[in-house]
Amino acid sequence: MKCLVKESLSVDGLTLKQDVVVPKVKEDEVLIRVQATCVCGTDKSIYLSSRSEGIQKEMRRYLPNGDFKPLVIGHEFCGIVEALGPGIEEKFKDIPEEHKVQKGDYVTAEMHLSCGHCLQCRTGNEHICTKVKVKGVHLDGCFAQYVCVPYKNVILLGKDGDTSKIPPKIGSMLDAFGNAVHTVYEADVRGKSVAILGAGPLGLMAAMLCKEFGAARIYLTEAVDTTRRFELATQFGVDQCFDVSKSSKEFLASVEKNESFANGVDVVLEMSGSPSAYEDAFSVVKNGGEVLLLGITRTPLKDFDIAGSVIWKGVNVKGIFGRKMFGTWETMLRLLRSERLDLQPKLLKIITDKTYSLDQYEEAFGLLNGGKEMKLVFELN
Ligand SMILES: [Zn+2]
Ligand SMILES: [Zn+2]
Repeated sequence: MKCLVKESLSVDGLTLKQDVVVPKVKEDEVLIRVQATCVCGTDKSIYLSSRSEGIQKEMRRYLPNGDFKPLVIGHEFCGIVEALGPGIEEKFKDIPEEHKVQKGDYVTAEMHLSCGHCLQCRTGNEHICTKVKVKGVHLDGCFAQYVCVPYKNVILLGKDGDTSKIPPKIGSMLDAFGNAVHTVYEADVRGKSVAILGAGPLGLMAAMLCKEFGAARIYLTEAVDTTRRFELATQFGVDQCFDVSKSSKEFLASVEKNESFANGVDVVLEMSGSPSAYEDAFSVVKNGGEVLLLGITRTPLKDFDIAGSVIWKGVNVKGIFGRKMFGTWETMLRLLRSERLDLQPKLLKIITDKTYSLDQYEEAFGLLNGGKEMKLVFELN
């Protein structure tokens, strides 16, 4: 099969392979023929791996002696079930029809594989499993014609290949949408002022959700390609957008003026991973406010004033990783299917109109790495 492989962490880029053997479906697994797969920020970091010790360390996490072996990357996708592992049909025969995954069904998957046995897994917190392995980061992923996923991680999108309710372009980005849903659900934004830091796909998705969930006022900051991102953000319901590429002064001044009665915003959603955004986050949050951190900084923060930023302000800080298994998935499918919310047309605006083939990966990553595009989809046959 055709696939995109990371061959060495010390060299930037990927390699297109034409003749890799289709993975053999194991017991408890499902083989999926990939229809569409979406590129996210983590894939960009992997593409540019020589520049980030953080991503190198992450990718070596489970490797004996840290010896990296070539890996198929990619973790956001949708496709059609090609085969079920031996014995699955019999084993899961009593699952209700509407949740049962069968050959030919249209599906996506949670690519964070939890161990199922650690304390976190046993106490309803599989999303922060201490032994979590991510397909496309630690195990072979989905920038490929076929991918194998544990049955338990497969999410049914449509029976018998029915893509009419959730088109493949949307189906391929549910991992990312789930990050945004998870983050916004961990904060209570009803009637509150919210600052979203980062207007990438996740920040924009968070913005549309905050609007729908009744935030009173939404601020948004971004440092790259701001014109188009702010145009979308405004359409999605953001009140004020700030270009922070040179300085955050204007942003801080506006919060100070509008939120002076509370000395800051109620909720900050950090969706950028940019070191300067952490400073902004704790400057604008009110005493007793909430800061939710989803963006991933690839370098450790130095000189962070934890007393002044968190302790004396009594700020609630929460890290958000992945999606709750599988509560977030159930929530996002309902949100996507809701005609009243009509989120799908908005989500499509975040992705490029044009789709790419795996052969065009260099062009595609060039657009993303240069900040010209935010999110794009590889379509496979
Ligand atoms: Zn991702
Ligand atoms: Zn676990």
